[in-house]
Amino acid sequence: MNVDLPTLRGIWLLVLSALLLNCGLSRNAFLQLNEGSPQASLDDDAQRQARERMVREQIANRGVRDARVLAAMRKLPRHRFVPEEFQASAYSDQPLPIGHGQTISQPYIMAFMSEALELKPQDRVLEIGTGSGYQAAVLAELAGEVYSIEIVEPLGKEAAARLKDLGYERVKLRIGDGYRGWPEAAPFDAIIVTAAPDHVPPALVEQLREGGRMVLPVGRFAQDLLRLRRTAKGVVQENLLPVRFVPMVGEAEKK
Ligand code: SAH
Repeated sequence: MNVDLPTLRGIWLLVLSALLLNCGLSRNAFLQLNEGSPQASLDDDAQRQARERMVREQIANRGVRDARVLAAMRKLPRHRFVPEEFQASAYSDQPLPIGHGQTISQPYIMAFMSEALELKPQDRVLEIGTGSGYQAAVLAELAGEVYSIEIVEPLGKEAAARLKDLGYERVKLRIGDGYRGWPEAAPFDAIIVTAAPDHVPPALVEQLREGGRMVLPVGRFAQDLLRLRRTAKGVVQENLLPVRFVPMVGEAEKK
């Protein structure tokens, strides 16, 4: 077998990322670490094919049915949202590091959460944890207005530049702690939280309009993905899936 140094480095980085940084990972999902190597820069066609395969094998096969979600994931160039050294792994079945100790979530988890939000084209949606901006772009494909808050300033700035570059400048971004939501833009039809608090942030529930859905991971090490639905009679909560996300930092940690 002919394994060169860059390939070894790539495998090492992937193993490290899988071990250390597993934000947005379904604990049930099977990890595959064998897709591509960092030095192999894929051409557009190959990327489209990798994306097709990702949607078919990782997402549709695991039960995500919403055609609009599948189309968005098929369309978005996920490789543009990850650092260069991980681009060849952009369509593999795992979260990837995006710098500052943060990760872009596993594709399946993003699709699953997007479907669980039950978005309609005119909906207003809030995301807490912009990260790379990938989920925000998926939301922009599915909803009418997208607001997203990121607490790590350089990540927020990079995401803003990337989203503008890709034509998603109508996504409204804010740098700051998302624990209290975005009251001036509330109420929202949907809220998605992509970092895990150990309790449901009350302000976010308040910012859901009646009929609105919130999908969020809650817990410390073992977390559950919850969906809260605000109804005329109160808030209904469902437990969707065991997951693992990076912790929500800031005010959430002090409660
Ligand atoms: N949705 C992202 C991935 C999320 S990783 C994507 O598509 O790439 C979780 C993100 O939440 C990280 O970028 C982290 O910095 C951010 N975060 C953590 N606590 C936060 C808080 N209190 N407010 C806003 N963002 C927060």
